[in-house]
Amino acid sequence: MKIIDGKTICAEVKSEIAAEIAQIIDSGQRAPHMAAILVGHDGASETYVASKDKNCKAVGMTSSLYRYEDNVSEKELLEVINFLNNDDEVDGYIVQLPLPKHIDADKVMAAVNPDKDIDGFSPSNLGKLVMGEDTFIPATPCGIMELIRRAGIETVGKNCVVLGRSNIVGTPMALLLSRNKPDANATVTLCHSKTQDLAEITRRADILVAAIGKPGFVKADMVKEGAVVIDVGIHRIADESQPNGFRIMGDVDFPAVSKKCSAITPVPGGVGAMTIAALLMNTMKAYHKRFPKK
Ligand code: NAP
Repeated sequence: MKIIDGKTICAEVKSEIAAEIAQIIDSGQRAPHMAAILVGHDGASETYVASKDKNCKAVGMTSSLYRYEDNVSEKELLEVINFLNNDDEVDGYIVQLPLPKHIDADKVMAAVNPDKDIDGFSPSNLGKLVMGEDTFIPATPCGIMELIRRAGIETVGKNCVVLGRSNIVGTPMALLLSRNKPDANATVTLCHSKTQDLAEITRRADILVAAIGKPGFVKADMVKEGAVVIDVGIHRIADESQPNGFRIMGDVDFPAVSKKCSAITPVPGGVGAMTIAALLMNTMKAYHKRFPKK
């Protein structure tokens, strides 16, 4: 059984980006710049945005943060979006979700300039993804596709089952795996909470992607012998045996499933690491839209 090491692959991607940025700066151009809008003090969002900032700096990218309290008005947010859309110094930015309930997240995402939408959540970029056009792919599915490519996992003609149909993970994942491309071309089944005989479907998967948001949900009897398992879930589980009082686990029962599959992503150190790598890749893509590669 092979562990698909997201941390090592993320480090590879980052070192390639760092080398490219060093060359860009040597040539006298400014560094690529990623910005983030963060509203409120949600712990997971704070951690993600801090990690984004650290990773930007590690590769030589400029990083900036626009912070607002929970009571920010929709108008104020739309104003900063308009500012970032028109700021020539910013190549791409994210609006960290979730937003407070009084703000219409769909309206906010629709206001993001599609050429700076490095999360790929704007309706026009999601539409392009459906059409198979070149676009910004949402960071988590983008990172998973990069992980699959770099880990040398064959997808052509394989049966893939994606558990979960969210707009940020499951649905784009299913679209990407089924595209008519040499690194995709899989036959994909997309499952959700109303799917019947789920285990019967997952047992047919050569590649199983679990993105349902339920800790340890995928058990060994749901997995085919020799399957590749991609665990997208991230959960903080109370555990007094750990120094910090918790452990991180995914949507897959790792100890049991890892004995049965041919390859699996660990949690942490699998998909999560690649999500940040993908965001850096998308920022480079946004930069090159403005400053084409010579
Ligand atoms: P989500 O929006 O809550 O979607 C969950 C999906 O799972 C829904 O489509 C839901 O079906 C389906 N589902 C729930 N229970 C099910 C069941 N019993 N059987 C079959 N399907 C079921 O979650 P998400 O945002 O996609 O995130 C999924 C997981 O990935 C979470 O653990 C999240 O923390 C993690 N995540 C990780 C990263 C990363 O960087 N590693 C990034 C994003 C998310 P319905 O549509 O019918 O409700």
